[in-house]
Amino acid sequence: MTKLDIIIAPDPRLKIKCKPVAKVDSKVARLMDNMLETMYAAPGIGLAAPQVGVAQRVIVLDVAKEGDRASPYAMANPELIWVSDEDATYNEGCLSLPDHYADVVRPKTIRVRYLDRENEIRELDAEGLLATCIQHEMDHLDGILFVDHLTALKRNIILRKLLKAKKSVVVG
Ligand SMILES: [Zn+2]
Repeated sequence: MTKLDIIIAPDPRLKIKCKPVAKVDSKVARLMDNMLETMYAAPGIGLAAPQVGVAQRVIVLDVAKEGDRASPYAMANPELIWVSDEDATYNEGCLSLPDHYADVVRPKTIRVRYLDRENEIRELDAEGLLATCIQHEMDHLDGILFVDHLTALKRNIILRKLLKAKKSVVVG
């Protein structure tokens, strides 16, 4: 497995609409494996293909608590087929927006349909953190970052700070 480089915002590659995969073949399965390794190493609880420069509808996640058994998911072409009326608010962060967090409101419970690593169609009912994480990663596939759910003022403050950090040079 290979650890991939994570793209940091602002970056045009994080703003594109990704294409569905035709089939989860060995190449897509390898991408899923590499994304999981990259996510665990970061460490993070979710990662979407555009964050590693691949414009395909693939996400991985594992929201298991530290010390609990790993519970990885790899999903291609995920789609929400049901969402609850009830919302939940989480203080979200993102591996592409390091050190920035903000409250985001999303449906509390969802049902997602996707292709798994073996190219089988699956459905998963998720709630709480897992539901939030799936929706956050699915947003990435349409070029949406969690800051896009905030007011323009809050979003611009975060993006300006990230841009400034990118331009800084570490000397010594
Ligand atoms: Zn993210």
